[in-house]
Amino acid sequence: MYEVIVEQPFSAAHYLKDYPGKCANVHGHNYRVQITIEGETLDSLGMLVEFEVIKQALAPWIDKFDHGFLNEIPPFDGLNPTAENLAKFFYDETEKALRQPGQAASVRVSYVRVFETDKCSAGYRPK
Ligand SMILES: [Zn+2]
Repeated sequence: MYEVIVEQPFSAAHYLKDYPGKCANVHGHNYRVQITIEGETLDSLGMLVEFEVIKQALAPWIDKFDHGFLNEIPPFDGLNPTAENLAKFFYDETEKALRQPGQAASVRVSYVRVFETDKCSAGYRPK
């Protein structure tokens, strides 16, 4: 099994609805989204997937979230913008992008990790 890992940063504000503590106040993070792609077959160049393909899949969302207020950006205007929910969101969107025609059909997203700080992160992996 091969893996390719791409990490992209963005900075954004958020607060956690109904949270009984300081995270209920508006505050910001320098987030990092880490996408892990896995697959068993390399292409003729010896690549699983080009880093650029993953960066392009993330780009519209990184663009939208960077310097934004997550609680005002769908789906996080309804869904609590926790690191866990962000990880699942980035999983779904990256998987969707990989399933577009012309993309490498033999690869899948195996894990997404969202860092709120260097020492705190949450992840999502499909069953
Ligand atoms: Zn926070």
